[in-house]
Amino acid sequence: MNNSDVSRRPHHEVVIVGLGPTGATLANILAGYGLDVLVLEREESVYPLPRAVHFDDEAMRVFQSIGLAEGIGRDARVNVGTKFVDRDQKLLLDWPRPQEIGPLGWYPSYRFHQPDLEAELNRGIAACKTVTLHRGASVTAVADLGDVVEVGYSHDGAKQVVTADYVIGTDGAKSVVRAAMDCEWEDLGFQERWLVIDVQLDKPRPDLGDFTIQTCDRDRPTTYVRCPREWRRWEISLWPEEEADDVTTDEFIWPRLRPAITPDEGRIARKAVYSFESKLATRWREGRLMIAGDAAHLMPPFLGQGMCTGIRDVANLAWKLAAVLRWEAPDSLLDSYESERREHTRTYIETAVRVGEMMNSAETAEALTHAIRPDGAAQMNSISRDLDHAIGPPEDEMSGMRMPQPRLDTGELLGDAMAGRFAVIGPGEVLEKVTLPPENIAAAISAEAHPEVAEVFSDLGITAMILRPDFYCFGSVGPQNSGGLRDVLAEFKKQVHG
Ligand SMILES: Cc1cc2nc3c(=O)[nH]c(=O)nc-3n(C[C@H](O)[C@H](O)[C@H](O)COP(=O)(O)OP(=O)(O)OC[C@H]3O[C@@H](n4cnc5c(N)ncnc54)[C@H](O)[C@@H]3O)c2cc1C
Repeated sequence: MNNSDVSRRPHHEVVIVGLGPTGATLANILAGYGLDVLVLEREESVYPLPRAVHFDDEAMRVFQSIGLAEGIGRDARVNVGTKFVDRDQKLLLDWPRPQEIGPLGWYPSYRFHQPDLEAELNRGIAACKTVTLHRGASVTAVADLGDVVEVGYSHDGAKQVVTADYVIGTDGAKSVVRAAMDCEWEDLGFQERWLVIDVQLDKPRPDLGDFTIQTCDRDRPTTYVRCPREWRRWEISLWPEEEADDVTTDEFIWPRLRPAITPDEGRIARKAVYSFESKLATRWREGRLMIAGDAAHLMPPFLGQGMCTGIRDVANLAWKLAAVLRWEAPDSLLDSYESERREHTRTYIETAVRVGEMMNSAETAEALTHAIRPDGAAQMNSISRDLDHAIGPPEDEMSGMRMPQPRLDTGELLGDAMAGRFAVIGPGEVLEKVTLPPENIAAAISAEAHPEVAEVFSDLGITAMILRPDFYCFGSVGPQNSGGLRDVLAEFKKQVHG
């Protein structure tokens, strides 16, 4: 194909391949920056049954950033937590989840019905003027030509080709975008088959309880999940010799749900065998191609973090795409997507694998607690991870630290005032004396005007900060930085606003 053929193709700044929760979140965020986005999704409609059942406060903060937290929160339930029990139902380990709003401005853990969430994300996309969505569009070829990417897909029986500045593969475990990159799976060793059963109860059953119950049993670990409304989930570990056709029968399933429920109390809406794996793509970016979500990582669902990790990926990637495409940031900023996200994700995969191993082997409370926490703490805590290889001023130990989300004195959450931009937060008189980035890139927020912000700064021992749109710290001013905000802004200009 010659260059004139390529230049005649319809062109978009970003093509997103795959409209699962990761791609749908990304499309919503990119639309907030006004980017011209084409989304190509193979399926004609949203998958009507859930896979994920849990998301955390960080995911909710991202949903807040795209204006969908209210709708998503309305359909979700605050999660009370998980109890790990032995086969006799003796409590081994408690993992209660707080029932108060946490530092990120949201409850730490939610249970949700995935079709509700995807419907909200799609509602968001439908309202985005700069996003075009083609359903029934199966991507078959992706080629990075150096100055653009060419994407081939079939749609309504016709072959189509478009070009893009960047193509993001959010196309799940069998990603065609990943296949077009020089990239392998790093296998972190977990592989088990589980039967997943979703039941819709005919009427409320409060006696089943609100806690998730993980039964740690060498022979047959199982999980019970209290989902919204009358949805309930059971996950049952399978033996290697058990065939999918045999374990998806009523004869196999109902005896395992009794005595909790009987066939006259609800209907089995879905029964499917999943292979739970632990894999990390060796590369997340190559040239103009990037991958996110299950295209980049797979983990067993015991922490409920697979989808949440995909949401974190795109919260990290989206503003970098905006910075490169609109704020004149160097293209090399996109390299930090892989360096910041890949090792961060490894922690979640490894922890999920440890929980899975524990469910298979735990015999005593002591073994169980040591399996999760080397210090033997009897109560499990959530992972809250900073970025290891974060961009920002050299030597600033706070770069990459995950930040809380205080309320401003207006009552709004800090993220709402940022509206997808950076925040330059510091003493009002200092902000007046420095050259701030343009208003469409960063919001200036006077720290002392907002008591909750001042309290966060006091706890951290800093006087100023540049906060990224994904709520990680870019750079800070404190005793360790004698150059003050001017230095941090200079570094910001170099790295983010070319
Ligand atoms: C039983 C189970 C329980 C889970 N529980 C949780 C949980 O509680 N919490 C949590 O955070 N995670 C959980 N997960 C993980 C979570 O479901 C996934 O991580 C998440 O759905 C991945 O989203 P995604 O958008 O990256 O990929 P997917 O949801 O796989 O979406 C990929 C999309 O790309 C489309 N596509 C693929 N190929 C092409 C192509 N060539 N052209 C066009 N479109 C294409 C597909 O049709 C699909 O719509 C669970 C997973 C399982 C299996």
